[in-house]
Amino acid sequence: MNLYDFTINELEEYFIEKKDKKYRATQVFEWLYLKRINAIEEMTNLKQETIQMLKQEFTLNTIELVQKQEDVDVKKYLFKLQDGEVVEAVLMKHIYGNSVCVSTQVGCNMGCKFCESGRRKKVRNLETHEMVEQILQIEKLEGIRISHVVVMGIGEPFDNYDHLIRFIEIINYPKGLAIGSRHITVSTCGIIPKIQEFMNLPYQVNLAISLHAPNNEIRNQIMPINKVYKLEDLLKILKEYIKKTNRRVTFEYILLAGVNDSIENAKELAHLLRGINCYVNLIPYNETSSIDYKRSSKETIHDFYDILKKCGINVTIRREYGSKISAACGQLRSKREEG
Ligand code: SAH
Repeated sequence: MNLYDFTINELEEYFIEKKDKKYRATQVFEWLYLKRINAIEEMTNLKQETIQMLKQEFTLNTIELVQKQEDVDVKKYLFKLQDGEVVEAVLMKHIYGNSVCVSTQVGCNMGCKFCESGRRKKVRNLETHEMVEQILQIEKLEGIRISHVVVMGIGEPFDNYDHLIRFIEIINYPKGLAIGSRHITVSTCGIIPKIQEFMNLPYQVNLAISLHAPNNEIRNQIMPINKVYKLEDLLKILKEYIKKTNRRVTFEYILLAGVNDSIENAKELAHLLRGINCYVNLIPYNETSSIDYKRSSKETIHDFYDILKKCGINVTIRREYGSKISAACGQLRSKREEG
């Protein structure tokens, strides 16, 4: 096991089981997340015996930076995991703080046609500690604090649900990374049973849905998951989610030229979302050399935006980060493999 896998409760249980004091867990958390030690030996307020025990049972840092790309306000990191697999994380600098986009799996099984990550099938889920470490490493490399986390990197977070929830608990815990739940966003392609579980949790975490289509016909074409969890069922559960959590849902909508970006598509989308407490994030497509989809023109994007706006939908066009440095999911990793 790895110490970054533990929530505070789990670590308390561990120490109780070892006939030690419960508060030992808080001490360890402080070393890990406040003092940011690099080795278990550095936990100098613990007894030698405890240090030896922890050293025998747990590892600490496992991921390693292998490549970094930089642009003005975005940096992208390729991390090598202990088994040699690599995943990406992205740092974005905003006026309101620093946000990190975290990967949750090596590869992805969702098979979205436009997405680079899905070109490689899932090899494995990331462990909780491998997600926590992405944030810790970036903070250390850059000498900054991360205020926002978006779970939108490689992988489908709800296909790695248990590790994801632990990750959220650890980064949200005040003596962990202390990232406010309203500053955490999880993005999913729409795995309904997990949305249902997620809405029953006590966290106020934001939920984003990769919608990308106004109807089943188009969504089936570009997102195979829609054949399992249909649009109408997805919207039904989201309405329940909104009612239960009293939170607004974000819909991500990549504009793909000639696929989902017509005036009719915009009207259909507005109709579909009417009355739902949501906001739509229109995303200019990041083209990749291995996939044929093209980005919609600026005019098309603005026309699409205008229609939604006129129909009373809250909508923004995503500011672009990192298209120059292949920051769309999976692009850096796949370049490395090809290069
Ligand atoms: N599996 C999750 C999270 C990872 S994808 C999900 O589907 O939401 C994060 C977001 O990036 C998704 O909305 C995805 O559709 C989008 N995306 C993938 N490839 C992209 C590309 N080339 N350009 C722009 N957005 C992309």
